[in-house]
Amino acid sequence: MKRISLLLLLLLSVPDIFAQNTADTKPLTDSLTGFPLPEEMTPGMTEFWLPQPPQVTPDDAGSAPSDAIVLFDGTDLDAWRPESNFWTIENGLLKMPKKGSALATKENFGSVQMHIEWMVPAPEDGKECRQGNSGVFFQGRYELQILDMNGGKPTYANGMCGSIYKQQAPLANPMRGRGEWNEYDIIYNAPVFNSNGSYRVPPTITVIFNGVLVLNNAQIFGTTTYIGLPKVQPHGDAPIMLQRYSDTEDTVYFRNIWVRKL
Ligand code: MG
Repeated sequence: MKRISLLLLLLLSVPDIFAQNTADTKPLTDSLTGFPLPEEMTPGMTEFWLPQPPQVTPDDAGSAPSDAIVLFDGTDLDAWRPESNFWTIENGLLKMPKKGSALATKENFGSVQMHIEWMVPAPEDGKECRQGNSGVFFQGRYELQILDMNGGKPTYANGMCGSIYKQQAPLANPMRGRGEWNEYDIIYNAPVFNSNGSYRVPPTITVIFNGVLVLNNAQIFGTTTYIGLPKVQPHGDAPIMLQRYSDTEDTVYFRNIWVRKL
């Protein structure tokens, strides 16, 4: 389609090229040297019409744009690998379990735009307020942290909610209160590798957290491990994963998860 568009553009421009050689449109020349002067710019010279961007219907409240891949809309877990079978749907919400593994998409992804909403419920009466640790892993290895910051337990800045875990601290903390819904709008750019396995272009991420920019095209340095420095591991497209933190006593709920491939 692109080739056809380019060919059409070239064919349409041919008469203009010939027109420059006619007597009527003889190029202006410099009066001293006789050399031709640049043609005067017209508005059309800096406009391109093809290809036109595809039409996308924007999301209304609680739904995804028309070209999005819906990962969870409250009805089923079909987009996710069945081996993560402790994750359940409760009243239309995706519930992080107290045991089992991370929830991984069936499909592999590289660069994406992603929307996800999540909430850490208020603790039951008399129970300790835990931090509802989860996270979104891009390409199966780079964690954007999800962690409740309202429980009164401080944590290191580069492990706060909205951080790239142990690497990039968020620019702000716009978290809503316990039991309230939060949302991430994310642009994640996958890395490009050199032949020796190092990053030629490192992964980068932009995150808008409840409407506030918290990561601005931030560089990711490698894997996001709890202990140790980031590691650079060559990889291709891989699942998006939701973390199930091993020590958490409470849970995290998710809703309205979708991605658009970039
Ligand atoms: Mg986490």
